[in-house]
Amino acid sequence: MRFSVLASGSTGNAFYVETERERLLVDAGLSGKQLEQLFAHIHRNIQDVTGVLVTHEHSDHIKGLGVIARKYRLPIYANEKTWEAMDGLVGDIPVEQKFIFPTGTVRTFGDMDVESFGVSHDAAEPMFYVFHYGGKKLVLITDTGYVSDRMKGVIRHADVFVFESNHDVDMLRMGKYPWHIKRRILSDVGHVSNEDAGFALADVIGDQTKRIYLAHLSQDNNMKELARMTVAQTLERKGVIVGESFQLYDTDPARPTELISV
Ligand SMILES: [Zn+2]
Ligand SMILES: [Zn+2]
Repeated sequence: MRFSVLASGSTGNAFYVETERERLLVDAGLSGKQLEQLFAHIHRNIQDVTGVLVTHEHSDHIKGLGVIARKYRLPIYANEKTWEAMDGLVGDIPVEQKFIFPTGTVRTFGDMDVESFGVSHDAAEPMFYVFHYGGKKLVLITDTGYVSDRMKGVIRHADVFVFESNHDVDMLRMGKYPWHIKRRILSDVGHVSNEDAGFALADVIGDQTKRIYLAHLSQDNNMKELARMTVAQTLERKGVIVGESFQLYDTDPARPTELISV
């Protein structure tokens, strides 16, 4: 199984995972043209995608969805409430391209099993995914106000985590955002802070964990260096040392991470 975080941040999100038989895109939160360019960067073609999984209806996750669905006739998967919420946001998608992927279920795509799980975020029914292939486990989780024990049970001991590290709490508090936005981000249905990412990761990292990608960083309330440092220090306080058996990696809003084999 190979994957790349094509783009990550409040300006747009897209994640790619492939096996021998499947090529899945998770979210399409950038323009169709930008998505085509991101695919070109990893030497892949968006027209070869076999399915698009949607996490939730926020624009940084579905901006280009309607365009690529129509242009490349891609099958789209989302839960029922997310489909309802996307009505009017993505234009017409032919009914034969619409599939329901309920929260908390496993769906087989060719040679890969994909498990969906609910998160705590202010969207209709947000959910993220775990990819299982050949005994390997790849977890994608962003856009959640906190990481519950239930979520930890699903994502535990993955080989690779793509994990939200949205903001530095002090930068957010001091920053220019209006108070109601700050309150939303800090709430239980907002986004995970750098420190909370560290605490949650300390509970779910296993012996097989090799790579952790810090994702969905806020452009205004975070910095890559600060996110990595805070997560590493928080893990250290819990006795988990970065660099011993796993490494932390950055993601970028405009540049894909290297296509890596899990
Ligand atoms: Zn988002
Ligand atoms: Zn969101």
